[in-house]
Amino acid sequence: MAAVELIDITKRFGDAAVIKGVSMSIAKGEFVSLLGPSGCGKTTLLRMIAGLEQTTSGSIVIGGKDSTALPPEKRDIAMVFQSYALLPHLSVFDNVMFPLRMRSIGTRQEQARRVKDVLEMVQLSHLAARRPRELSGGQQQRVAVARAVVSRPQVLLLDEPLSNLDARLRESMQEELIQLHRQTGLTTIFVTHDQEEALSLSDRIILLNEGKIEQQGTPSELYGAPATRFSAAFMGSSNILDVNLETDGATCHARLSAEGALLLADGYGRDGAATITFRQEEVQLAPAGQTGCSARVETAIFLGSRVRYVVSVGAHHIRCLATDSKNFRAGDTVTVRVAPNRIRVLD
Ligand code: ATP
Repeated sequence: MAAVELIDITKRFGDAAVIKGVSMSIAKGEFVSLLGPSGCGKTTLLRMIAGLEQTTSGSIVIGGKDSTALPPEKRDIAMVFQSYALLPHLSVFDNVMFPLRMRSIGTRQEQARRVKDVLEMVQLSHLAARRPRELSGGQQQRVAVARAVVSRPQVLLLDEPLSNLDARLRESMQEELIQLHRQTGLTTIFVTHDQEEALSLSDRIILLNEGKIEQQGTPSELYGAPATRFSAAFMGSSNILDVNLETDGATCHARLSAEGALLLADGYGRDGAATITFRQEEVQLAPAGQTGCSARVETAIFLGSRVRYVVSVGAHHIRCLATDSKNFRAGDTVTVRVAPNRIRVLD
């Protein structure tokens, strides 16, 4: 049984359709990220799962129970907001205690034990007496997470909980979230617009575009095999080229210029205009005259352990991140190679 199931959900605000027929099934214990650009509807979707926003049509099933019309407190979920929403006049301990009091979960003694346990889990026991304003951003974030998990909900919803933190703290909080997920086995739905964050945290990524699911899959599927131009661009693929496919018997080439073409592993039987993508780290540069596609180096930027090149083949510009020590310079003629199985033909 799925922990959360959305069946053909739509949401309108006035005339504007914000979610357009989204269905998804999230397994018990799964860590799923809802990823997409600002305004694509991630938060709206999460708020509908939480019961903070009504659906226009479709149904939401949580733990096997149709929850579409249930108020938030009747759904077995907890949510951590971007703003943390801590109660400023209460101590850390009482903030975490709050949901247990509200829902009258357990005796006073049991409540206190649970609060102690989760504070230990998020390493905040020593700050239990402090008020939220006496904490750093990362500590406040941990209090918010502790408060969310203390009532042992079936599902944890996280709305960009790391976006207010600086880069280093974010990284360590990501590690803590992974650990927390391992320890609790909680079904987790995480909203983010940061593809790296989604890649590093999730079992599965659901990529949203203008209120619809663009693509979903494991991080390596989304990273390595984007299916559409939008997915490729959003997942940070640096080379997205409009080319002509030419199939000749058992081989298919993507033509970049009169003399230059790249061999493809798929796309057989296709001819004509298509879009291909490959990542910059998958491009190899070799000296001129070797087997491959002849190109001209436009820029070479030294990054320490790597060199970032932009090379041109006809009217196309190709980005390349080279880790070997060959040093080409702007103006050099080089050979570009990309392993055929690394080149995706987009839908
Ligand atoms: P962000 O990453 O910027 O938070 P998001 O993907 O979470 O974006 P939502 O906040 O879900 O996007 O918003 C989706 C669309 O719905 C936006 O165009 C937004 O302006 C609109 N929207 C959200 N809430 C309301 C509301 N209460 N009334 C009217 N329009 C709304």
